[in-house]
Amino acid sequence: MSLKAFLKTRYGNGLRSRAAIENHHQRAFVRFRSNVMPRSPFYADYANTALSALPRMNKQKLMDHFSAINTCGIDREKAFDIAIQAEQSRDFSPMIGDVSVGLSTGTSGQRGLFLATPRERRLWAAILAGRFWPNLAKPQRVAFFMRADNALYRTLGNPLLRFEFFDLLDPLEKHLSRLQDLSPTVLIAPASILKILADAQNVGQIAVSPRRIISVAETLSPEDRNIAKQAFGRQIDEVYQATEGVLAFTCPAGNLHLNEAWMRIERDIIDPQSGAFCPIIHDFTRQSLLLLNYRLNDVLIPDPSPCPCGSACTRIARIEGREDDALWWHGPTGRKMVSADAIRTTIACLPSPITDYRVIEKNNQLTVWLDGAAPTSETELHHAFSSLAARLDVTVPPLTIRHGLPHETDFKRRRIRIETSP
Ligand SMILES: [Zn+2]
Repeated sequence: MSLKAFLKTRYGNGLRSRAAIENHHQRAFVRFRSNVMPRSPFYADYANTALSALPRMNKQKLMDHFSAINTCGIDREKAFDIAIQAEQSRDFSPMIGDVSVGLSTGTSGQRGLFLATPRERRLWAAILAGRFWPNLAKPQRVAFFMRADNALYRTLGNPLLRFEFFDLLDPLEKHLSRLQDLSPTVLIAPASILKILADAQNVGQIAVSPRRIISVAETLSPEDRNIAKQAFGRQIDEVYQATEGVLAFTCPAGNLHLNEAWMRIERDIIDPQSGAFCPIIHDFTRQSLLLLNYRLNDVLIPDPSPCPCGSACTRIARIEGREDDALWWHGPTGRKMVSADAIRTTIACLPSPITDYRVIEKNNQLTVWLDGAAPTSETELHHAFSSLAARLDVTVPPLTIRHGLPHETDFKRRRIRIETSP
């Protein structure tokens, strides 16, 4: 681990004013422009270009120019081969030299590659351990549920840290007894898995009491947060982490802050009223696969109020999910985004509570699945959606209500989503 980064994250005062953040970014980019950008064939000529004037990137463009963007001279096809081999053999130590290679599939179906140098792996480990390691004096047992293991995560292992990987491609039942035996002090899992583990804990299939519970890799909905919080009797911490890096994590006060210590994050505002925005990131800690002027399609809702923890890094009220997963309803002025949060709140406020639900928009038709519905639920839902639509000046699409839940095999499936026709 990087000791400096670890100590700074654990005990440092952090960035306590906007001016301090600006100053930090300014200095970081001076170094980055002279030390890192010249090593990337793609960015070498841009070392003096303003960040906002750099080519606008996204996942697709990053993959298109992968071979020229990375500073390690790694060819894209070779990296894909190595990453895919590792996926197939489930032997996760894919490395090219000392650079680890990972594969991300994402929900958009695009395959992405990521790279991490030893320095980047140490930094990642230092920050996460600095923030989340419960007690430095005691050995910790970490259960980590991930779709794929990667040398990145192995970095955390050391004599004080027993680190066990639970492969999400294995059936979950197989994991429960192993989890019970491990009796983890730290539990790290994607939000949907936390929900399943919370259910297992509630029915007595497992009885574990981790001191830290960290939701990673996908959006943690307020419903799932509460279920997990109650089942384990602990605050649920969140690391909002994509292939693109750690974008935000919860502070000791339990609020999400953007990771402005590592990257400069600008806003592409998509809803002026709530301030909802898609982040555009410039990462100055990443020295292998450079991420500059890179737009993510996750929608974040900012929270302008100051945080009791004292950090001036932008507070995030919540991560709304992917821009392409918000619902879009028609109105007199065209299509308007109906945020997942608006739908969630509407359903949570139905007079007769339900157990669970799915809202699926497909070909401009809406299907709502209600689990544990009361006889009056259908009428209530029609009413609630109509008033939501009236408030947003749009019309509810043709609506079918079904009972129970659809058959779903993919853990990543969200409660509210758009499906496209095959
Ligand atoms: Zn805070």
